[in-house]
Amino acid sequence: MARTHISGFPRIGAHRELKFAQESFWRGESDDAYLREVGKELRARHWELQRAAGLDFVAAGDFAWYDPMLNLTALLGALPERFGFEPKTLSLAQYHELARGNKAQPAMEMTKWFDTNYHYLVPELGPDTTFDGGVDWLFEEIDEALALDLAVKPVLIGPITYLWLSKSRVAGFDRLSLLPRLVIRYLRILDTLKARGIEWVQLDEPALCLDLEADWLEAFSAVYNVLGDSGIKVLLATYFDTAAEHAPTVAKLPVHGVHIDLVKAPQQLEAWCSALPADKVLSVGVIDGRNIWRADLAAIAASLKSLYAQRGERLWIAPSCSLAHVPVTLASEKKLDAELKSWLAFATEKLDELSTIALALRYLGAGLPGTGLPAAAQAALAAASRALESRRHSGAVFNVLVQRRVAAITETMASRKSAFAERSRVQRHSLKLPLLPTTTIGSFPQTPAIRQARAAYRRGEMRALEYLERMRAETATVVRRQEELGLDVLVHGEVERNDMVEFFADKLWGYALTENGWIQNYGSQCVKPPIIYGDIYRPEPMIVDAACHAQSLTDRLVKGVLTGPVTMLEWSFVRDDQPRSTTALQLALVIRDEVVDLEKAGIRIIQIDEPAFREGLPLRKADWSGYFDWATRAFRISAGGVSDATQIHTHMCYSEFNDILPSIAALDADVITIETSRSSMELLDGFGEFAYPNGIGPGVYDTHSSRVPSVEAMQRLLERACEVIPAERLWVNPDCGLKTRGWPETEAALSNMVLAARTLRQRLAVQ
Ligand code: GLN
Ligand code: ZN
Repeated sequence: MARTHISGFPRIGAHRELKFAQESFWRGESDDAYLREVGKELRARHWELQRAAGLDFVAAGDFAWYDPMLNLTALLGALPERFGFEPKTLSLAQYHELARGNKAQPAMEMTKWFDTNYHYLVPELGPDTTFDGGVDWLFEEIDEALALDLAVKPVLIGPITYLWLSKSRVAGFDRLSLLPRLVIRYLRILDTLKARGIEWVQLDEPALCLDLEADWLEAFSAVYNVLGDSGIKVLLATYFDTAAEHAPTVAKLPVHGVHIDLVKAPQQLEAWCSALPADKVLSVGVIDGRNIWRADLAAIAASLKSLYAQRGERLWIAPSCSLAHVPVTLASEKKLDAELKSWLAFATEKLDELSTIALALRYLGAGLPGTGLPAAAQAALAAASRALESRRHSGAVFNVLVQRRVAAITETMASRKSAFAERSRVQRHSLKLPLLPTTTIGSFPQTPAIRQARAAYRRGEMRALEYLERMRAETATVVRRQEELGLDVLVHGEVERNDMVEFFADKLWGYALTENGWIQNYGSQCVKPPIIYGDIYRPEPMIVDAACHAQSLTDRLVKGVLTGPVTMLEWSFVRDDQPRSTTALQLALVIRDEVVDLEKAGIRIIQIDEPAFREGLPLRKADWSGYFDWATRAFRISAGGVSDATQIHTHMCYSEFNDILPSIAALDADVITIETSRSSMELLDGFGEFAYPNGIGPGVYDTHSSRVPSVEAMQRLLERACEVIPAERLWVNPDCGLKTRGWPETEAALSNMVLAARTLRQRLAVQ
């Protein structure tokens, strides 16, 4: 029979147990032992789900206290030297200091994991990195699985991907020079696993799905010639895109099997089938690890029939990538519409899908379709087909009003009336902002009182009017505090927003919200992506009231903040029955309507957040321009309905932006506020080749850490920025929103920021 396995299961727990345990550990309310206990219990629970579903292996190594890349760094013993921690005795408290920073050191850099919304901690390597080994957590976890009598397949990020994603603070340092030492450490790890009787280990190399340069490809072959021959069976896993061009090379390596992502890149199957010798395992990722739709099990089984006939148990069935990108279980969804629920599969349900496919193949493969197939598998296949049929014909999916508007979109809708130079002249005249205007990104601390009110309202324990009054009172506080801080452009603080996507999704038709559909974003931070199942329609304005209320409280300008079409798309579970570009256009139209309504209501600065703009980018450069075409058009349509006098901002964060500056410029926002502080304004390096033409606020401090930055530090960053951006176009703002921060550190940081801006402003005025 074809074998079934996964690359990883969501580690946070169905009720976010890991998050709550972590946070209580950080607050000092619980100790090491408690956190370890919670981790152990979650691992055991998730293994039991995999075993119960009939998987041939359970995955280990997918667990991490904060992030798997950081766990690997701790395992390899490659801790950033600046912390001064001893790798082999790293404590959980120190581990979390690496991730979150401490009094002496800022946190390690964090950035997006390929084209997902998950963030990993970037390894900081240098000429002195030795990989002498670190903590034994991985081996302890494997021992736990073995003690439970489970067939366990450890999953580790491979050395090429690890090095590729790492950074060095030493200019000109070639990370590849570390490879020999790194490979020795991997060999030791494989030996340790072998000594425990482990048969297979999976090494994840999603970096192979990028456009790797020749030296990296050579390094890849060299490494796997060694690792493949180490006496333990290696499954080399690729995912997130095609790796087809590497099939001939990989076929010659001594690795024992390859995993490929057939959801994202089904076209690569042929190349792998013909290249890979029959004695090697081919693991096909046929269940979508990144989306929540129930799979067409019968169709998948049928498509694998001949492959199964050729490879038998050397065909493995798996999700495309780790299931950490989908919520844990549908069982926690009590309120979801029954029809919609029948169309979905979360991580736990996907485990059963794998088993059903393997069973179906076995009987199909015997040439006896339908006969002998166990009743449960037959029922599962039938239920999947029924669900697909109901989704295809559901009246909840199609909205003729939306379809008509999308068809009527014209080119002029994607442009502002005048070019930036003219708009900026008009705006300078009417907005009368000082040089180096200060602002924030939108959200302010979400206090316990705010969260409690929202929860009470959601549970039906607080009347709508009382809730509205509470939120208005909170907004008033936020506005007053910003005035006191002396900020130039205020925001209403997003007090009523739980999440920047879910908040809007809740107000739009075609979107459904889950109760417990959490996925890990970074560390303990989880998000609950809403589900786009149908055509998107805005029945009424969404934030006009809140923005106008805030504006009525102050003489300063209040910026209306809303989420852009690309981010709405990227941070939702999207339809797989129409192209993303079509869904993006539908979203663009509803945001455009809201922006126009804000302008009509007297809001003169409007920010359309696009933090996910970079992460929608395909991994392969050849696909970039296609993406930019529709993503840029969607943004421009959302911003294109207002007059020249209305200033459009956008905001982006947690990505590398240097290589896409021209496309960011093509959005033609009047101002962009953009994350830069964690990488010490690396962004500005990109300005050497491309001068960003419009207004820009490079973030001067990291809002994801509780450290309060000094006036001098921010001033230095601003001075650097001034060297490449004319002061007339420079804004001063933090990296991102402040909703996860507390008030004391927020006020301290912003007051320093305002001071830094004022000092520089005065100096420039004198010159
Ligand atoms: N306006 C949002 C906020 O301030 C932006 C968040 C983000 O970029 N992720 O919270
Ligand atoms: Zn941000």
